[in-house]
Amino acid sequence: MTATPPPPPLAGGPGGAAALRPLLATVLTALHDGATHRRGPLPAGGPDAVARHVRGVLGEVLPEHGTGAHEALRTLVHALTTGAADPADPHCLAHLHCPPLAVAAAADLAASALNPSLDSWDQAPAASEIEAALTRTLAAELYPAAPHPDALVTTGGTEANQLALLLAREHHGPTLTVVHGANAHHSVPRAAWLLGLPPTRTLPTPRGTLDPATLDETLARTPGPTLVTATAGTTDAGLLDPLPALADTCARHGADLHVDAAYAGLLALSPRHRPRLPGLDRAHSITVDLHKLGWQPVAAGILAVTDTTRLAPLAHQADYLNAADDTHAGLPDLLGRSLRTSRRPDALKIAVTLRALGRDGLADLIDRTCAAAQRLARLLRAHPRFELHAEPTLSTVLFRPTDARDDDLAALRRTLLQDGRAVLGRATADGRLWLKATLLNPHTTPADLDALVTLLEGSSHR
Ligand SMILES: *Cc1c(COP(=O)(O)O)cnc(C)c1O
Repeated sequence: MTATPPPPPLAGGPGGAAALRPLLATVLTALHDGATHRRGPLPAGGPDAVARHVRGVLGEVLPEHGTGAHEALRTLVHALTTGAADPADPHCLAHLHCPPLAVAAAADLAASALNPSLDSWDQAPAASEIEAALTRTLAAELYPAAPHPDALVTTGGTEANQLALLLAREHHGPTLTVVHGANAHHSVPRAAWLLGLPPTRTLPTPRGTLDPATLDETLARTPGPTLVTATAGTTDAGLLDPLPALADTCARHGADLHVDAAYAGLLALSPRHRPRLPGLDRAHSITVDLHKLGWQPVAAGILAVTDTTRLAPLAHQADYLNAADDTHAGLPDLLGRSLRTSRRPDALKIAVTLRALGRDGLADLIDRTCAAAQRLARLLRAHPRFELHAEPTLSTVLFRPTDARDDDLAALRRTLLQDGRAVLGRATADGRLWLKATLLNPHTTPADLDALVTLLEGSSHR
């Protein structure tokens, strides 16, 4: 008689750690070997070569008989790492795509192992308390003068902006007009579309930021309830809308103000950087991403509101999760903290990171990152073959080879991707196309930046 083998081990329980340890060793070896094998910020050869390689390595996605945990982890993690655009490489700087801190990734492992789900207290007793403490803290940082500020954990800026528009719609009704600059993130008009709101008003932003006088004229001509969405840290250029003047304008016209601070919001946690965000706490709601300047693995977003009562429209009841008598008996009701039901404890990695680094540790990471952007801008400004769009405000640098046409620029970016040598972004500003370097890696050295400029110089000559 052959005994049936036991099912594969679980990640939790007293035996979980012992089961995980050898598997993690396999994962870590594959991460190391894959990164070494890649030799650059992304794999060479472009989409076809990567797809061929991945398909070749994978073979059957669902074999009849399994290959076992170590083989599957080794094969797929190696393929993932070899073919990654790795933001930990200093020449991977296209997007607000941060290299996660090791401490945050390690904390996220515990979240995966235990799988607390934040839709009811009986699935997440401690996790829900950690989340509550974190959101209280972040809300108080963003709204230092408010008596009862609150914040929700979101999957990122997109979900936070959607929730901000939803709360405004529930407050003001379905005729709400959303006004934003052409510099706003695309998720703002998309959220209005999703929520069935009238088409948004897009104000031109020829200088990259929302102009209070233009807003003033628009609000004077906009009847009915209005939500203005401003941006602290535009996605293309990292610019800060003039929040105090915009808040004054909104107040004069009785319009609500939402600030999308997905990029710059974390500066508020540092006494050194907070003065760069004057007027932030005059917004009715604020979006902040911690998977940008915050160095968290995706997902890590926040929507903060001035007062916890503003979240009332999200209240929701499902008997199996928050029966009225359970809530009455003292079980925390979590369902009104999100539109999602099952929900990962993303608060854990954030709380671990804040504790591990502290304010000064975070401020130091921000300083290093902004200093790298300043340094790259200096190199490009001093270089006869490059034109700099403007001095960086946060950590984004827009530039272009002086003699290039827009088509050449786009092609240069694709060549660097194809060769696996650099991941640069693109942005349109002043009616022209620019190359974009988004610095988010606090380990970037002056030598890395010199090497980038040398690489660009060589490539733009081709
Ligand atoms: C990144 C970004 C977003 C979108 O955030 P996700 O986390 O990608 O959903 C929204 N607004 C701004 C200004 C951003 O930079």
